[in-house]
Amino acid sequence: MAYIEFRNVHKSFGNNEVLKGINLSIDEGEFVTLLGPSGCGKSTLLRCFSGLETVTEGEIYLDGTNITDFTPKQRKIGMVFQQYSLFPNMTVHQNVAFGLQMQKKDKHFITEKVKDVLHTVGLSDKLDQYPRQLSGGQQQRVALARAIIMEPKVLLLDEPLSAIDALLRRNLQVEIRKIQQNLKMTTIFVTHDQEEAMVMSDTIHLFNVGQIEQSGSPADIYTHPQTKFAANFIGHYNILSNPDLKKLCGLSSDCDFVAIRPEAVLISPEPLNDAVHFQGKITGVMLRGTTISYTIDCDGIELRADTLFETNRQRNMGEMLQLQILKEDILHLH
Ligand code: ADP
Ligand code: MG
Repeated sequence: MAYIEFRNVHKSFGNNEVLKGINLSIDEGEFVTLLGPSGCGKSTLLRCFSGLETVTEGEIYLDGTNITDFTPKQRKIGMVFQQYSLFPNMTVHQNVAFGLQMQKKDKHFITEKVKDVLHTVGLSDKLDQYPRQLSGGQQQRVALARAIIMEPKVLLLDEPLSAIDALLRRNLQVEIRKIQQNLKMTTIFVTHDQEEAMVMSDTIHLFNVGQIEQSGSPADIYTHPQTKFAANFIGHYNILSNPDLKKLCGLSSDCDFVAIRPEAVLISPEPLNDAVHFQGKITGVMLRGTTISYTIDCDGIELRADTLFETNRQRNMGEMLQLQILKEDILHLH
């Protein structure tokens, strides 16, 4: 039995079925991400797991115990939300110490433990500050400290970085991952940001309206999306209907749609064996930092092609190109 198991979990609000039979296994120490568009049921699943909501049907197991009917407190689960939800009138120390004080732990023990945890999240020098004196990223690290000080069996993070600036957010992604790995804490992370999911996770579960569409490692999900929804949500796949594929290069698929990664559309390199060849005209050029994205019109079929950005090899609008795609890079979608 896995450390965490969701078995056929359903949740309805009135006649709105938000979770439609979730089956999910999570190993101890694993960092798992629930990825999906807004409104697909990610937070609801976390809330069911933490006991803030009851399930309509199904069971949830944690560490071998059926916790479906446990109160939130009995479950020993820590949570961090998008909103920082710190106590504004308490210092960082007081915020982080709060949970242990409620448990009437020894004062000296608490002081040492708070120091320890604040060191872990890199806030040792902010002990006596108030939340309003901290940046959003710092406040979120306090919220993280407040959760991990309780040594929860599982840490739940519901879009904790959504309100934070892009640059700081990237730093925090790496930091949270490091902390999680050091503490070996089983973590369920929720985000609608596919890049964030890629960076952080051992395993990604891709959600689509109350169901899991696909599960796998980041590399697996990125390179082998199995459905049109997954290909749309992960990366910026070119998605072609079977007739368009035929028109483009003469190939035909058993599936209705195929997906091709933008970086798999190769621009006039040496002709490769086992590739399909065709022509196209550049209709758009977009610099994205280390890569450059071309929009290419191939006789009425629009493709995106990404290459590394090399200043001396840039191509221009209107230029005609020889293109090729390896057959193995054409993914057939179910
Ligand atoms: P996500 O976190 O993926 O954005 P949620 O789990 O928050 O999605 O919401 C999924 C759906 O459930 C939404 O349609 C939302 O309106 C509905 N929902 C969530 N909580 C409640 C509630 N307490 N009462 C009624 N409907 C709810
Ligand atoms: Mg949510």
